[in-house]
Amino acid sequence: MSADKYTEETITSLTKWADNLFSFRTTRQPAYRFIAGQFARLGVRGLEGDIVWRPYSMVSATYDEFLEFYSIIVPDGLFTQRLAKLKVGDTVLVDKTNYGFLTTDRFESGKDLWLLSTGTGLAPFISILYDFKTWEDYEHIVLVHSVRHRHEFAYEQLIGEFKDHEHFAPFAHKLIYQQLVSRDHVDNILHGRITTLLESGDLERAVGFTIDKERARIMICGNPAMVADTRKLLIARGLTMTRSAKPGNIAVENYW
Ligand SMILES: Cc1cc2nc3c(=O)[nH]c(=O)nc-3n(C[C@H](O)[C@H](O)[C@H](O)COP(=O)(O)OP(=O)(O)OC[C@H]3O[C@@H](n4cnc5c(N)ncnc54)[C@H](O)[C@@H]3O)c2cc1C
Repeated sequence: MSADKYTEETITSLTKWADNLFSFRTTRQPAYRFIAGQFARLGVRGLEGDIVWRPYSMVSATYDEFLEFYSIIVPDGLFTQRLAKLKVGDTVLVDKTNYGFLTTDRFESGKDLWLLSTGTGLAPFISILYDFKTWEDYEHIVLVHSVRHRHEFAYEQLIGEFKDHEHFAPFAHKLIYQQLVSRDHVDNILHGRITTLLESGDLERAVGFTIDKERARIMICGNPAMVADTRKLLIARGLTMTRSAKPGNIAVENYW
């Protein structure tokens, strides 16, 4: 990619969530614009000056002065092995173009917004939660985060703090944060995968209402097998994929 197509941003902070999970903030150019739910293309230079690029969802709000990203570290992963070595003050390249269609404007008005994620697939949903319009448009926002182990619930505290937030508190009763753990067994946390808990009805029982074709708008993000299987289950229940010509119930993003 030619140098006029990207900017050089500086890492301003790092947060470690687990051995293989961390978040980082970078500086942001005022001209860099995106819609909540979209992703950036990030580049990291190697020792020989070669650049590896990967898509990364924005975690930060569209109005934040920084960009924030939430990353896995893949053993032997070309990009994440480089990324994980960076420190505050180091440089990350950000493609000037914003990308992606996992945005609420792809839906016609609904009542219940279901945000279904595995692992780092949570990232775009934090940005969507920071969008005031999301809270205005929906009666319920159901954020489902599925991880393997209890300690992988990144952003748990931040999600819990919407109820105390000076701007979001009046709407915070709309948010239902449903954690799922697939490997550990933890008291008071649903055990299992999104697909099995949807099939059994346990997910909707825990949330307190069902996925209703007329009311539900559903975003699915993360592991491609989960995305494909969940989509299939929902389509079998009469829900439809959203398309630009024909808005429906479901929008998805695969992370690999
Ligand atoms: C639209 C889009 C948005 C994305 N946003 C994010 C994001 O916000 N945070 C993030 O960590 N990744 C995100 N990814 C994945 C990211 O682009 C890279 O794949 C990831 O950083 C690993 O890069 P790598 O070169 O180290 O390994 P790669 O060679 O890219 O991947 C190697 C393998 O690692 C596994 N893997 C890749 N990404 C993940 C992941 N996120 N979680 C679990 N396993 C994974 C897969 O099995 C994959 O085949 C996104 C991908 C897409 C397509």
